[in-house]
Amino acid sequence: MIPLPTVLSDSTHGIMTHFGMVTVRITDDEGNEGLGYTYTVNAGSKAVACLIEEDIKPILLNADEDCIENLWQKSWWHLHFVGRGGIAAFAIAAVDVALWDLKARSFKTPLWKLMGGNNPKVKAYAGGIDLQMPIDQLLQQTQDNLAKGLKAIKMKVGREKLSEDIDRVRAVRELIGDDITFMVDANMIWPVDVAIQAARKMADYNIHWLEEPTNPDDITGYARIQREGGVPIAAGENFHNLEEFRHLISAEGVTFVEPDVATCGGITPWLKIARLAESYNLQVTSHGVHDLNLQLLAAIPNGSLLEIHGFGLERFLKNPITFVDGYTTASERPGHGVELDFELLAQYQTK
Ligand SMILES: [Mg+2]
Repeated sequence: MIPLPTVLSDSTHGIMTHFGMVTVRITDDEGNEGLGYTYTVNAGSKAVACLIEEDIKPILLNADEDCIENLWQKSWWHLHFVGRGGIAAFAIAAVDVALWDLKARSFKTPLWKLMGGNNPKVKAYAGGIDLQMPIDQLLQQTQDNLAKGLKAIKMKVGREKLSEDIDRVRAVRELIGDDITFMVDANMIWPVDVAIQAARKMADYNIHWLEEPTNPDDITGYARIQREGGVPIAAGENFHNLEEFRHLISAEGVTFVEPDVATCGGITPWLKIARLAESYNLQVTSHGVHDLNLQLLAAIPNGSLLEIHGFGLERFLKNPITFVDGYTTASERPGHGVELDFELLAQYQTK
C-alpha cells in the first residue's frame, strides 16, 4: 500500500489515505521488457497479485508474447468462472499493458503509434478528489491546478445536502470564469431522481459532464438522468468488461465513455470499447493511470479529455507528464514510456 500525498475523499470510498499498486514486468528472449500495472482502492491488491502469479503467469511462460489477443482470451476464459470482471479484470489489465509495452518496445515505437497513432497532443484536466475539502482549500487547489497549465478541472459532488454541492460548484465556476472546462463527479451516490434534480441545477454553471450520478448497474436510470437532467453524462470507471460498456452506450446512458485501462482488462478491451464508442459517435475520456491513458487517447480519433488523477504516482516516475496551455503530449519513447522508480517503491512492497 502506497501513502497518498494528501488525504482524498469522495462520496463512495470516503476518506482515502493509501492506494494499492500491483506491477508486472515481462521479458522476451531478446531481453526486451514490458511494464504493466494496476491499482486498488481500500481492498483487493493482494488478491490481484495472487491471480497474476498463480493463474495468469503459467499461461504466459513460453508463450508467443506478440499474440496478445490470444493470451488475453486464454487468461479471460481461464478466470471466467470466478471473473467476468472484478479483480480478474484488474489482474489481466496489468499483464495486458505489460505485453503491449513489450511489443511496442521490441518494435522500437511509441505505444500510441503502434495502437493507431492519431494525435500526440491531448487536452488534460485535473481530477480533484476533494469532496470533504473545506471550500477555501478547494478554491486554492483549483488555482494551483490552473497554475500548472491546465485549462480544465473536475471536482467531487455528493455532499449530504445538494445545496452544499451547488454552493461549491458556484464558487468554483466564479473563480475560474467561463473559459475553463468544468466537470463534476458524484461517484454513484445519488438516487436517480436526486441526480436529475442535481443535473438541472448544475446545468446553470455550464457543466461539461456529470460523472457517475448513480449506481452504474442502473442502466435505465442513467438513460433517464441524461435525458431529463440536461447535462452530458460520463461513466465507465466501475465497468470491468466490454459488455457493460455496450449496455450503457446502447441505452443512450452516456456521452463521455470512461474506461480505465488498469481496471477494464487492459489495452486489448480498451481499444474495443473505444471503437464501440466511435461507432456511436461518442468520445472517450479516461480514468486513473494518466501516464498510460495519454498513450491510448493519442492513438484514437475520438479521444476526449485526459484525467490527471490525484494519486500522485508522479513521485515514482522518471518522466512525469507536463502541461502547456491545457495540453500534454504523448512521448516518442518506445513503449508507453513510463518508467517506475522501483528503488523508491521498494519501501512499500509487501509479499
Ligand atoms: Mg470518477
